[in-house]
Amino acid sequence: MKKSIYLDHAATTPLDPAVFDAMRPYFTEQFGNPGSLHSFGQKASAAVFAARQTIASELGCHYSEIIFTGGATEANNLALRGAIKQWRSLQAAVSQDLVPRIIVSSIEHESVLETARDLEKEGVEVVYLPVSQEGVVDVQKLKAALTERTVLVSVMYANNEVGTIQPIAEIAQIITDYKLSIANSSAPVAFKNLLPAIYPLFHTDAVQAFQYLSCNVQALGVDLLTLSAHKIYGPKGVGCLYVRQSLTPRLKATSSKLQPLLTGGGQEQGLRSGTENVPAIVGFAKAVEIAMRMREKESRRVAVVRDDLLKRIKIIWKSVVVNGRKDGRLPNNLNLYIPHAKGSPALSGEQLLIALDVAGVAVSSGSACAARSIDPSHVLTAMGFDRLRSKNSLRFTLGRQTTKKEIQTVVSVLESLKKKKA
Ligand code: PMP
Repeated sequence: MKKSIYLDHAATTPLDPAVFDAMRPYFTEQFGNPGSLHSFGQKASAAVFAARQTIASELGCHYSEIIFTGGATEANNLALRGAIKQWRSLQAAVSQDLVPRIIVSSIEHESVLETARDLEKEGVEVVYLPVSQEGVVDVQKLKAALTERTVLVSVMYANNEVGTIQPIAEIAQIITDYKLSIANSSAPVAFKNLLPAIYPLFHTDAVQAFQYLSCNVQALGVDLLTLSAHKIYGPKGVGCLYVRQSLTPRLKATSSKLQPLLTGGGQEQGLRSGTENVPAIVGFAKAVEIAMRMREKESRRVAVVRDDLLKRIKIIWKSVVVNGRKDGRLPNNLNLYIPHAKGSPALSGEQLLIALDVAGVAVSSGSACAARSIDPSHVLTAMGFDRLRSKNSLRFTLGRQTTKKEIQTVVSVLESLKKKKA
């Protein structure tokens, strides 16, 4: 049987066998509920605690700042909706009635963008930050959009379609400077005494970045950070939200930046009720541990293989263009526009994707979450590209198992497809 070649690691990654081994006992003999007082429960609770410590140590935070969720979509929802809920209750306490604003980049994942759109229906004002043609957020526009009503800014660490890395630490500094300017201003700013100390909160979705970049929350300067296990060779359906706990003395009474979306038994600091998914959490921590160990070496290795792929594709189709800046992108991401011009493929991007799949090569035309949609990629659109460019773009995302030999096979398949007619 012909071996398939998987080049869609931004959609999901295969489970690392060591992760599976770590999870296995928690499906079978160690099945306790971490909330139970007996020894079955205590074993499960100890496993969740150890996992929390592993992830916290990688992020450079306290273990109590890690909130386990059922994946990144939930974590992103908790960040945005939870922050708005908390702001609204603080506002009610000081009898203010301002329209809250959130600022999100226009290339965020659907779990942020659709949440923002939903919040708009509830009366939240949303500012969608533009990006350059290179796929990088416009920090000047961000600066201009900050107001005393800004509850949260959400900018992803690295984009899932084009792999571009965003200037997170720079944005954090802009937000810090803004907060200081408000604190020092003599203008009669609404509820200045209470809110500017923590608002605007800064959230980053680090789902795609984690595999290759350090996600130390102190260095990044973020208040909230999202991770997902299945993008780093862990199980699906588990992720976490880092929630910075630092409090200003004035805000001691309101100890959280967020309010929960799920109520119930009060697990996860009261922010995410529901019995913890113990095997998944254990697997998540194991995946984090392995990713940290491999990060530097694997980043260098995969970049070489990716660059080799680009070089060879350019020999087949000279007119190929890379979507997104070449430097400052994830080392495993290659998003290509293959124009329908002379010497270019007769097949469209989508037809190429299907033909590649038939030949045993899995790639993507954008994000897996948007694959169901017939709309052009919102990321390429935000970068200023038209529907045609979207239709004829392909995303190759390499992974730990991707070898130069595999790339050679992919290139041979592409060469044969070049000759095909639509
Ligand atoms: N954010 C980004 C950047 C992603 O790539 C994804 C997955 N495509 C998500 C969030 C959603 O993650 P999950 O599947 O864990 O809900």
